[in-house]
Amino acid sequence: MAECIFCKIVSGEIPSKKVYEDDKVLAFGDLNPQAPVHVLIIPKKHIKSLDDINQEDVSLLGHIQWVAGKLAKDNNLPDGYRVVNNCGIDGGQTVAHLHYHLLGGRTFGWPPG
Ligand code: 5GP
Ligand code: ZN
Repeated sequence: MAECIFCKIVSGEIPSKKVYEDDKVLAFGDLNPQAPVHVLIIPKKHIKSLDDINQEDVSLLGHIQWVAGKLAKDNNLPDGYRVVNNCGIDGGQTVAHLHYHLLGGRTFGWPPG
């Protein structure tokens, strides 16, 4: 997707603070962190949102969950953390490339705003 900022981060056209990469996913620091640890985990292939996944993407989503848990361990978050996907307008999604937020290093409230 030529105009997608996260596709541009995958290609290196837009720089990012990369914390993990493999053939399927990339993880990098959020530009506007909401917690001491705020990492975005994205698939390298362009998927608009969780609303657009297919059965064939199930293993990719499982892999993203595994990366989230690994990065939580790498960041030393023994007291817990939060993994968030914002989907669509009501979900507060602002970038139309599927991404999961890994947030940690402080206590979060519930319910979300
Ligand atoms: P959303 O609101 O769609 O769930 O999350 C989008 C996230 O992407 C926001 O937390 C925002 O700070 C982050 N973001 C937007 N543009 C960039 C960028 O160019 N680089 C990085 N690292 N993060 C970005
Ligand atoms: Zn994209």
